Amino acid sequence: QRERLVETETLSVIGEMAAAVAHSIRNPLASIRSAAELAHEEEGSALQQCLQNITSQTDRLDGWIRELLAASRGGVVPVEKVDLNAVIKESLDGVASEMQRRGIALTVNVAPLPPVRGTRAPLAHAIRSIIANAVEAMPQGGHLRVEGRPTGEGQVEIVIADTGVGMPVGVAQRAFKPLFTTKPNGVGLGLALTRRIVERHAGQIELDSREGRGTRVVLNLPVGG
Ligand code: ADP
Repeated sequence: QRERLVETETLSVIGEMAAAVAHSIRNPLASIRSAAELAHEEEGSALQQCLQNITSQTDRLDGWIRELLAASRGGVVPVEKVDLNAVIKESLDGVASEMQRRGIALTVNVAPLPPVRGTRAPLAHAIRSIIANAVEAMPQGGHLRVEGRPTGEGQVEIVIADTGVGMPVGVAQRAFKPLFTTKPNGVGLGLALTRRIVERHAGQIELDSREGRGTRVVLNLPVGG
């Protein structure tokens, strides 16, 4: 009976990750395509830059596929001690060039966080999605704030706040619904999957947004022994 439960749980995490990867794959694919197109007309260092973009975006895609394969290997999703400090840092590294392009300032105030018990890849996907939304909400620049601390109640709290477009009440109410998106090329799976991943780790996610002012997402996850 227990085996079966674990199996079902495993399959649904893999299903979620497959959906998450399929969702995330579109941005790097679009960058690769436009870099390849540009490469036809560029020369010298501009051409080198195009080729460099193609290489790094391809590596990113490869990383995701690898995560998915690792999660599906042997039908077992590893439960491990996840270092969220590293996950946050990697997520921010992933958007650094886009933030620079948009003129987004970054303040990081993350105290050393004790490890969380769970599965790294989906947790990393959740944090990446929240950060990606924040960056997408600031097309004309702004300020991204990332905070993290142990709460002393056996939890870690992570706050990701942007000064972007924010959400009208009607949007904020629906933001977590699967396939709800206000973006022309959006898929609307980011927050829906993020919430499921966080809940699966016995955590909570809250969103507080003001139209024209910005959005604040607060994650709480239990510290794992
Ligand atoms: P997608 O990013 O593909 O649209 P999500 O589920 O991540 O899917 O987000 C759903 C919707 O919630 C977005 O289309 C957007 O309207 C809104 N949203 C999410 N995060 C933010 C944010 N940081 N600022 C403003 N709007 C946001």
